[in-house]
Amino acid sequence: MIRMSNIHKYFGDLHVLKGVSLEVKKGEIVSIIGPSGSGKSTFLRCMNQLEKIDKGVVEIEGMVVEAAGDVTEKVTAFPKDVRATYRKMGMVFQNFNLFPHMTVLGNVIEAPMTVNKTDKVAAIEIAEQQLAKVGLLDKIDAYPSKLSGGQRQRVAIARALAMKPEIMLFDEPTSALDPELVGEVLEVIKKLAADHMTMLVVTHEMSFARELSHRIVFMDEGEIIEECPPQQFFEAPSHARVKLFLEKML
Ligand code: ADP
Ligand code: MG
Repeated sequence: MIRMSNIHKYFGDLHVLKGVSLEVKKGEIVSIIGPSGSGKSTFLRCMNQLEKIDKGVVEIEGMVVEAAGDVTEKVTAFPKDVRATYRKMGMVFQNFNLFPHMTVLGNVIEAPMTVNKTDKVAAIEIAEQQLAKVGLLDKIDAYPSKLSGGQRQRVAIARALAMKPEIMLFDEPTSALDPELVGEVLEVIKKLAADHMTMLVVTHEMSFARELSHRIVFMDEGEIIEECPPQQFFEAPSHARVKLFLEKML
């Protein structure tokens, strides 16, 4: 579904991604783990064009949608197909990013109406379905300020799902939550897994990553230094830096 090849990203002189390559197949759940500052968020943001890459190739469903720097590949997708492709990626951030001046319903129908030109009646129907899925239909008229952090994050997930994404990118979706609210958000993500949603999840929740992922990727200092199935990752990581990280986390 997605192939990122040899991605490089700089912020000024800071070389943040140093040739990162990753493939995600349809239906796969891949967790990205690694220390703070290792480039995990930047990598996700490069995947859905929130950041421009300085070098490398991004392919989605077989189309080259971005090619930068000294590479032989050329963009093969038409601009409208590139835009349509990025609309199939939903993203959920650490800090929810809900619109504070809109109700839950307003937040969820906004993108379907403005980006997809869905009419309001249909958008509301989609919103109700997705809010039911995250267990928050009863909060449909509430403002974000009246919700707990866990509820806000579930609304953010419903908002992303309302765009009918084919892949969901989660960037530390539970890191800003009080410990007692983490579970309800993880439950929603597990439900998506049961529905075979393709997902890329940056997380520090080790037991969740172990239980849910098909593959774990460990990033350190702008590089992927380990990539393997969860059992191997947690029981027999090959890299000393991974062992050290796990010892601190577990
Ligand atoms: P992680 O998500 O693994 O904690 P990030 O991708 O957020 O790491 O950051 C990687 C590095 O890039 C860090 O050193 C961070 O300070 C830097 N960085 C991230 N975003 C920007 C930005 N917009 N401008 C400058 N530096 C940035
Ligand atoms: Mg981050």
